[in-house]
Amino acid sequence: MLRLPAHEILQPATVDEALALLAEHGERAMLIAGGTDLLPNMKHRLFEPDYLIALAGVAELRGVREGAGGDLEIGAMTTLTEVAESPLVRERAPALAQAAGLVSGPQLRNMGTLGGNVMLDTRCQWYNQTHFWRQALGYCLKKDGTKCHVVEGGQKCVAAASNDTLPALMTLDAALDFRSPRGAESRAVDAIWKPDGIWNKKLGRDELLTAIRVPARESHAHRGAYGKLRDRGSIDFPLLGMAARLDLDPSGAVADADLCVVALQARPVRVRKVAAMLAGAAPSTPAFDQAVEAVAAAAAKQCKPLANIPGDAEYRHLMVPVLARRTLRAAAEGATVGVL
Ligand code: SF4
Repeated sequence: MLRLPAHEILQPATVDEALALLAEHGERAMLIAGGTDLLPNMKHRLFEPDYLIALAGVAELRGVREGAGGDLEIGAMTTLTEVAESPLVRERAPALAQAAGLVSGPQLRNMGTLGGNVMLDTRCQWYNQTHFWRQALGYCLKKDGTKCHVVEGGQKCVAAASNDTLPALMTLDAALDFRSPRGAESRAVDAIWKPDGIWNKKLGRDELLTAIRVPARESHAHRGAYGKLRDRGSIDFPLLGMAARLDLDPSGAVADADLCVVALQARPVRVRKVAAMLAGAAPSTPAFDQAVEAVAAAAAKQCKPLANIPGDAEYRHLMVPVLARRTLRAAAEGATVGVL
């Protein structure tokens, strides 16, 4: 049995109290949202905080609502089940609702939160293991060691961003609201990530994610979908995760589009020139099918899975165009991608 290391749980009732506790305990403390990833990681001795600052009692961090200017505003502590089942999210951000509904399994989605998924630590098959296992291997750069087992001689950790909801939020041009001792700040979700698997966020450890904001879209018809490749359809982190957005003009042709991918490297990836390739093509026409093939080929060229997460990297690479095709078609049809 894997036991949790000794720690003390602190239970603030407000964001201000949580920030004060973070400031008081510094690097000896970690925030805990649903705990579905943090606690296993603690059992593996990947994190060994003396204090856990539990956000479960901070009511102001929960809920889905329409914010100023028609934005969709989702509190960081809203559970993934609530996000997946929210009529507002399903209508305004279908890719996000689908992604939230495909995180892990039902019990973990009832505990896990959108904020926790956005802030998820990177993952690697040489890192997300017990301490005994990692010790036998000689550890690695991300924790306790000096070398990388994915890139021979590599001096940079390439553990994979594995947040299902992140590509959906990127395609939706979402913003993340943070609070810190320096005040409140809202940042574009695209601006957060850096290619460093040890800590892949351009954030201070004293910043607390309070809400996720999805801007209202002007498009007459917004379509989106999230496709996920994983070993078991009932649970598991992504072997590939891909979100698509299509905005249609009044004639029904694509006016704008986006395709973003996780489970490749430390930073999520946006497939280049997707909007240009799909522009003007109306779903269910030969022109659209042709454009989808061009995007699938471009995705395969740009997305190069590494041996950082389980699943044969070559197989995952072969599945990139398959997932791109299916995710774009599901978005066009207002459907879900289904099990791969
Ligand atoms: Fe360790 Fe994996 Fe990062 Fe390499 S990529 S340093 S093996 S966690």
